[in-house]
Amino acid sequence: MKYEAVIGLEIHAQLLTDTKIFCGCSTSFGREPNTQTCPVCIGMPGVLPVLNRKAVEFAIMAGLAMNCKIAPYSRFARKNYFYPDLPKGYQISQYELPICQQGYLDIEVDGVRRRVGITRIHMEEDAGKNIHEKDSSLVDLNRAGVPLLEIVTEPDIRTPREAAVFMRKLRTILRYLGICDGNMEQGSLRCDANVSVRPEGSEGFGTKTEIKNINSFRFVEKALEYEINRQIKLISQGESVVQETRLWDSSAGKTYSMRSKEEAHDYRYFPEPDLVPLEIPREWVDEIKGRLPELPDEKKTRFIKEYSLPEYDAEVLTEERTVAEWFEEAVRLGGNPKKVSNWMMTELLRLLNEHEKEITDIPLTPSHLVKILDLIEKGTISGTIGKKVFSEVFLTGKDPEVVVKEKGLLQITDTSELEKMVDEVLKNNSKEVERYKKGETKLLGFFVGQVMKASRGKANPKIVNELLKQKLSES
Ligand code: ADP
Ligand code: ZN
Ligand code: MG
Repeated sequence: MKYEAVIGLEIHAQLLTDTKIFCGCSTSFGREPNTQTCPVCIGMPGVLPVLNRKAVEFAIMAGLAMNCKIAPYSRFARKNYFYPDLPKGYQISQYELPICQQGYLDIEVDGVRRRVGITRIHMEEDAGKNIHEKDSSLVDLNRAGVPLLEIVTEPDIRTPREAAVFMRKLRTILRYLGICDGNMEQGSLRCDANVSVRPEGSEGFGTKTEIKNINSFRFVEKALEYEINRQIKLISQGESVVQETRLWDSSAGKTYSMRSKEEAHDYRYFPEPDLVPLEIPREWVDEIKGRLPELPDEKKTRFIKEYSLPEYDAEVLTEERTVAEWFEEAVRLGGNPKKVSNWMMTELLRLLNEHEKEITDIPLTPSHLVKILDLIEKGTISGTIGKKVFSEVFLTGKDPEVVVKEKGLLQITDTSELEKMVDEVLKNNSKEVERYKKGETKLLGFFVGQVMKASRGKANPKIVNELLKQKLSES
């Protein structure tokens, strides 16, 4: 029997507002514990929450970007539970009337397009953080009251890979909108994955389990793969899947049970009496719609059309808005689109990765790249040297021409100097010379390579080619 998986995601995204959702405390990350708190967010009795307008605006932006209906009337609700990092004894969330509903996002995996329904997006406050030490546990409430969006998908996802691709796409959109930094390591984007399996081709759903708090794209995929196999094994052995919440142990590569359905919380939701219902005028939604940025899918399509880029290039370049803007700036300054794209996808993205930097905090500018391309085009430097110059400018922000001069990287075009190198190489590789003369002409590339190496990349390859051909045809 063949099985297929059914997956639905619940994603929490921390919003990039300056202040918390119901008070004026700062939301910045990594400060001294409990220095960004006030009577409202530490849950003192008798205080009143005041809704942060920016958080609502961000929720509307997310809803529009994910093709949702924005509710003209929604409401906050109390979700009651006890935990040390939740001093009020309840979390203000939304329940039966969320701000956004019935949206979708399209993803593509291996050429197969799939529409993933967005059931709802609602606003809520984050809890604090418990820090467990050897003999004690401590509570930090700096995060208590930071605004979150909870984004819930329909059970439309079918493979772990699709789940990871969906997460990436969601992250890209949130970052384009500038409403969440998408940092999974720091917990500003977290994912709970619900999964069940069923015989391929059947319509109904099997019993699901939920894997909580997955904090990387890789783990989303791995945890789901493990969990799907575990469920299939159980069912094939005639046993059944128990509905429960599980946790992913990344070092063991396994999920394990956290709590069963019986232990599940009953949150006793009820409408939040301290906040009036939220009424959103249509004009406000329209105004926000009018200033949404161009989103990744539209940008990708435009890049393919406007710059004749292959789909792959357009996909890579539009994954980050800042990278896409860097590309367009380089093209605007006269760079050839495909050349700029090649250099960005290989050299630039590699260096960013290596140095763990964002494109916004490097001294290398689009204008630097265009200059380097120019120097190569004019034959001042070779492509190989171009890469060296690029790395240097990446680190220092120096003018490419200055780097070329300072490092003595000018291309060698002096024929007599090159001739010496060619002679040397031919002398040292007499066997290959013989083979070449017997007809193995593809060895030409080998000789060129040797001369380039001897010149440390500085020889002009065109002249070297000509010289070699000429010398090798002499007997
Ligand atoms: P619960 O009541 O347990 O919270 P919901 O119906 O609210 O369940 O759904 C929570 C998440 O689980 C959603 O993302 C939904 O798409 C997904 N989901 C629901 N049923 C299944 C199922 N049988 N298999 C996989 N995912 C499911
Ligand atoms: Zn506060
Ligand atoms: Mg639910």
